[in-house]
Amino acid sequence: METKGNFPLKAFTSLETPFYYYDLDVLRQTLDTLKNEAQKNRVNVHYAIKANANPRIVSMIQMYGFGIDCVSGGEIRAALKAGVPADKIVFAGVGKSDWEINLALEAGIFCFNVESVPELEVIDALAAAKGVTAPVALRINPDVQADTHHYITTGLKENKFGINLCDVDAVIDLTLALPHVKLVGLHFHIGSQILEMNNFAGLCSRVNEIQAQLARRNLSVEHINLGGGLGVDYHHPDEAAIPDFAEYFSTIRRMLRLRPDQSLHVEPGRSVVAQCGSLISKVLYVKQGSVKQFAILDAGMTELIRPALYQAYHKIENISSDGEVEKYDVVGPICESSDCFGKEVPLGKTRRGDLVAIRTAGAYGETMSSNYNLRPTPKSYFSDDLA
Ligand SMILES: *Cc1c(COP(=O)(O)O)cnc(C)c1O
Repeated sequence: METKGNFPLKAFTSLETPFYYYDLDVLRQTLDTLKNEAQKNRVNVHYAIKANANPRIVSMIQMYGFGIDCVSGGEIRAALKAGVPADKIVFAGVGKSDWEINLALEAGIFCFNVESVPELEVIDALAAAKGVTAPVALRINPDVQADTHHYITTGLKENKFGINLCDVDAVIDLTLALPHVKLVGLHFHIGSQILEMNNFAGLCSRVNEIQAQLARRNLSVEHINLGGGLGVDYHHPDEAAIPDFAEYFSTIRRMLRLRPDQSLHVEPGRSVVAQCGSLISKVLYVKQGSVKQFAILDAGMTELIRPALYQAYHKIENISSDGEVEKYDVVGPICESSDCFGKEVPLGKTRRGDLVAIRTAGAYGETMSSNYNLRPTPKSYFSDDLA
């Protein structure tokens, strides 16, 4: 057996586990589709680099001409290093440090997505010190529903993100009064892993209301940025490898009433990179418990924290076994009971040394990895090199 599904099993057997494996054909197909649909719908894409900042992945995304959405100074540096033009970089986050703001001012980024009044005042002061004007979009908390895990909803009024709806008029007044910031856009981001198009439709209705509120004051901005959040199908990584960007873009195009000459921007992260990545791990032990059996892996929450953090589902496959299917609790080696990738997971008869693929790990896998327990950072491998 040389390959299993799309995995080069023979090449895998000589690699140290655990490792991240990226199928670049899946990434290229995703980027082709995204680029096509974005052009058709006149949408500007800024890839949210926090989903996966692996330099090879970012450089491929950059080659398609997409911009980058950053949430830290380190991410701005990574985007610039990958060759992304500064004028395609947006910078969000509730807690931007002074050095990060200065870095972004020096680079000359497209826009700061500003989340509070004190932040706006600091950006104005730091821009003044440099004798420049900072382009800003106000991140507004639209208070709309996102049907996803409560840890990854961001657009409800109890969340820490953005400027509250009732404060919008006052914050706009302040922005217009500050001499070293220029109001260029409105920014929104309602959460992540959203598959319900109605949620995006709800966001668009809210944006229309806010735009009408601005229009009553004869105000308009150059761009509208709807953020990221489009979800992926964790249950069907092969059958649904490419997210439905067409449906997503057509929903927002249909619902959103843009002003003349206003540009539309989005910041997809997960939907771009999730399906191209897998975490490949070796079975260390199969342990018979009193009521269940455990497959104990050499990968854990240090390499993929989503199951431990959000009870997230990832499809798990034993890519070494053709044996009869049995149920296993698939766990990692970390000293935490939450270090569990899945319970009652159907796997082919599993033995020590088998390779297991944890699918749809391309987003928020490698970037959220840690060295907890002093575990080393795993390597990453790419299909183009192993084929
Ligand atoms: C995380 C984040 C994104 C990307 O979200 P996805 O769900 O990965 O698409 C986009 N914009 C902002 C401001 C974010 O914080």
